[in-house]
Amino acid sequence: MKLSIIIPCKNEEGNITGMYEKLNDVLKGIKYEAIFIDDGSKDKTLDKLHELYEKDMQHVKVLSFSRNFRKEAAMLAGLEHATGEYTCFIDADLQQNPKYLIEMYEFLENNKEYDEVSMVMKNINHKGIMNFGKNAFYKLMNSLCDNIKLESSASDFRMFRTNVKEAMISLSEKNRFTKGIFSWVGFNVKYLPYEVEPRNSGTSSFGFIASVKYAFEGIFAFSSKPLKISTNLGILSILASLIYLIVVLVQTLGFGVKMNAVYALIILVLFMFGLQFILLGVIGSYISNINTEVKNRPVYIVKEKLGFSDKGIL
Ligand code: UDP
Ligand code: MG
Repeated sequence: MKLSIIIPCKNEEGNITGMYEKLNDVLKGIKYEAIFIDDGSKDKTLDKLHELYEKDMQHVKVLSFSRNFRKEAAMLAGLEHATGEYTCFIDADLQQNPKYLIEMYEFLENNKEYDEVSMVMKNINHKGIMNFGKNAFYKLMNSLCDNIKLESSASDFRMFRTNVKEAMISLSEKNRFTKGIFSWVGFNVKYLPYEVEPRNSGTSSFGFIASVKYAFEGIFAFSSKPLKISTNLGILSILASLIYLIVVLVQTLGFGVKMNAVYALIILVLFMFGLQFILLGVIGSYISNINTEVKNRPVYIVKEKLGFSDKGIL
């Protein structure tokens, strides 16, 4: 198999057939499999997929989830079932035009030094607050996370070689933030522009609230800095208490100002809060270590081996 196309579908009854036809049109002459993942759809998506499978078993493969497990789970399932030399994600709603698949495919065919092509939105499909929020999120994410760098208009619309696919699967974490995982595994990525089209039919699953939740999932999956905020707060608080202590001492001893119980109370409160925050930060550091261990990410990912008997990538 040359190309595996992974298509997560949640309530996409109006888009499945059109998607299939476009794929078939565009991918003439390429040996491909279209892996549709029905992510607990409540409409006729699965019926449509059955129809397609009956019609074209050579190209169509279907995985149907027992309930909605969310897009990230659908993408992992797709990766685990893909058999192609190249793998690609595309949304079912035709916002990402399948014509770009050829562009990505040809780029990988002609540029062996690249492992992945990532399509970057040329036109922004969000307005006002959504767009502002999105940019702010990516800035925050990039400043909080040391090992990943996210492009604010990059999407999951990507095509990549087997080495990238295997690396993505080797991150076995359950809270999957696929954009972050793509960045974490590294490899040579080529960014190409694409034009986002309006949704063909149905409604988006990612409204404002869902997008904010998704953003926080990303931060918690890839950064342990929030756990350590309290250490800094604690140090600040203790410093403030010490400075205030010095001020009070100078005032009472040097200038004969009468000592007041309130001063002592303020110093004590600042100091005790500081101590508590620091201890919370210590606990945070241990939790951060536990977090890293339970995620069980690979310690390194090999891109290429020379001079070893096996040609394995990982
Ligand atoms: N999707 C999915 N499971 C979900 C939500 C979405 O498989 O729980 C699929 C959906 O069918 C579509 C893709 O993920 O193919 C992108 O979703 P959507 O178009 O709703 O998101 P947007 O384009 O608005 O970001
Ligand atoms: Mg969409």
